[in-house]
Amino acid sequence: MPPVYRIAAVVALSLTGCLDPDTLDTADTGLGDGPLRGALSFGFPLLERAAMAPPIIGYDHDPEVYEGIYRAYCTDYMGRGFPHCYDEHDGSDFMLDGGFDAMDAGSATIIAALPGTVVETEDGNYDRCHSDMSTQDVDCDGHPMVGNHVILEHSGGYRTLYWHMMIESVAVAVGDEVQAGAPLGRVGSSGYSSGPHLHFELQDAEGVSIDPFAGEFSQPETWWCEQGDPDDFPGECP
Ligand SMILES: [Zn+2]
Repeated sequence: MPPVYRIAAVVALSLTGCLDPDTLDTADTGLGDGPLRGALSFGFPLLERAAMAPPIIGYDHDPEVYEGIYRAYCTDYMGRGFPHCYDEHDGSDFMLDGGFDAMDAGSATIIAALPGTVVETEDGNYDRCHSDMSTQDVDCDGHPMVGNHVILEHSGGYRTLYWHMMIESVAVAVGDEVQAGAPLGRVGSSGYSSGPHLHFELQDAEGVSIDPFAGEFSQPETWWCEQGDPDDFPGECP
């Protein structure tokens, strides 16, 4: 699920220190020691990395589920809370630096993180969905809240998902075989999205989400070719 992180940002102002990572048991995340990633390794799924703004909004490893304003509760792969993650978020969000102005100025190119086959696409949906402070939720200005996206399938049945693309930007079709680095679309804010960003998600063959980042609260082996520093984006594959 995509982010409401700007809404959560307001909420978080009154919720600092909401979780003590030391009290959490990583075995409770449901990921255990994590799946074997085998031969799969990812490159950063965006071509213009300088167009993206930290922090990465990560996968929530906190097994607790909160309601309402408590969506700011979370634990990312290294035990950090909001704004590095938010409650029940499965995936990694990479935010477009400059928001809608940057999107209108050309946005950024979403690329395949690794070779695969296109198994699902969606395009044609409104791409300026945004947060609404009055409702503390996402507003698509009366349009259907449907995200433009591409899903790739890889060896072992693993899938990578690329969500919230700009309207009419999807550059591939179901059945296409793509190489790592192939353009898939452009960063937008379609669907349940509070602003222009890429929601990148890894799923196993059963559809269970996996955090590709290695860390104390995730699995021990990274799925990125180069995970990089905690406050930086992953690197490219050799
Ligand atoms: Zn997301």
